[in-house]
Amino acid sequence: MPSFSRLIIIQVVVILTAVLYNFFTKYFDDTVCSKDPPITLKLKNDEEQVYSWDDTCQLYSLDYKEARSKFRAAIQLYENVETFSFPVAIDSNNEPLTIDVAIFPGNTPEYGTVVHSSGLHGVEGYAGSAIQLALLQKDVLPLSGNNRPTIIFLHALNPVGMQEHRRSNENNVDLNRNSIHGNMEDFVNQRDPNIAHYDSFRTFLHPTDPDGFLIESTWYRTFGMWINLLPLLYQYGFVALKRAMVSGQYHDPLGIFYGGNELQPSLQHVQNFWDQRPDLFRDSPSLVWIDIHTGLGPFGKDSIHCYPSFPNEAISRFPQTPAELQSQYFLTSHSVTMSVKEGETSDTFVGYDLSKGLMTSYFAEVYNSSGIFLAQEFGTLPAFLVGRGLVLDNMLYQKTKRREIKAGDGDKTQSGDSDKQDYSYRSPYLSKVFFPQSTTWRASVVKRGVALMLQSLDLSTKTKN
Ligand SMILES: [Zn+2]
Repeated sequence: MPSFSRLIIIQVVVILTAVLYNFFTKYFDDTVCSKDPPITLKLKNDEEQVYSWDDTCQLYSLDYKEARSKFRAAIQLYENVETFSFPVAIDSNNEPLTIDVAIFPGNTPEYGTVVHSSGLHGVEGYAGSAIQLALLQKDVLPLSGNNRPTIIFLHALNPVGMQEHRRSNENNVDLNRNSIHGNMEDFVNQRDPNIAHYDSFRTFLHPTDPDGFLIESTWYRTFGMWINLLPLLYQYGFVALKRAMVSGQYHDPLGIFYGGNELQPSLQHVQNFWDQRPDLFRDSPSLVWIDIHTGLGPFGKDSIHCYPSFPNEAISRFPQTPAELQSQYFLTSHSVTMSVKEGETSDTFVGYDLSKGLMTSYFAEVYNSSGIFLAQEFGTLPAFLVGRGLVLDNMLYQKTKRREIKAGDGDKTQSGDSDKQDYSYRSPYLSKVFFPQSTTWRASVVKRGVALMLQSLDLSTKTKN
């Protein structure tokens, strides 16, 4: 008969095995899309509507050009649509990597414009692209009604990041820290580099490693980086680490969450589009902008960050308070955050109080009328794995780039001033972190993403109070 202590050990082993099994089957499912069952969404507004998608592989892509081809093909099925392509960079085959735009004109100007954008953070664009393709399936968008707003899709705002499976762009810039309202040079000069303790955590976030020794060390990638982090976590805490990462920094161009020192080509295109089409943006009586992201929050669930810079009283078609927004607008969302002040934010956006240069926040500030600007964030892996992926990817990328720069002509700089690049880098660390290959995740993203867009279109056409 086994002794009592032996029974305890057996129980502990069984529990640990079950926990690890659940962890890996949930976060590292690795099921190919062809094995997914059809996705079905039931939405109840004035009447219940059912939407379904039979083939998940038609929505999701593993490569930027595959996603763009699917988007362009889907748009071609419609007649009354305006399309553009903004070239952001040229690859070594002389092919531009582009932001693709589709405008479905509305027929009731007072209902304004609803914008849906994907891929601001490169690799996160595979989720946003899938939602856009699901919306573009015939009979999903309400395009036949008499009263409808203009609908704009912006596909792959950071095409190079999407191609390289990275979060930052061709210049290592995080585009969602780059949209600074006002003079960017002044902002960069005035911001305390260590305002959010980036430098305090620098030995973890961007260790000095000129020969790329650390990234090649299995010990460092598995245990070493965490052991180095322990004293810093003890001194500052986990929230401080998250804040040090997500606040963005403007003084370490080869580091993570680098916000740049000038407006990047992708955002310049969006800004020009905004300026050239005042009918769609500045003069539109109502503007809703949904920007899709991944990597924050519970697996497959969406957390909404609704930017507080617009005047609340102006959005009279929409619910006003976070509680009303949750119950009447963001029907399927996990949480709603309208302010990132301490004590007023959901867990997902804790630590974002010092983040600047967010794209939708920027356009919310320059838009001076009735508008609602939000980020829809889909959770992926636990935060420590997301952080690990970002740090290791940056180390590998910088090592690869340094080799490229050493091998090429000495004048090449990080500002991407050589016209053509091969963009053959594929981040092995960020693909799964920001785009899990999981049946459950894929279905959840499509359902929640489509639901939010359709709900936005529905609320856009409600009569003003
Ligand atoms: Zn993002």
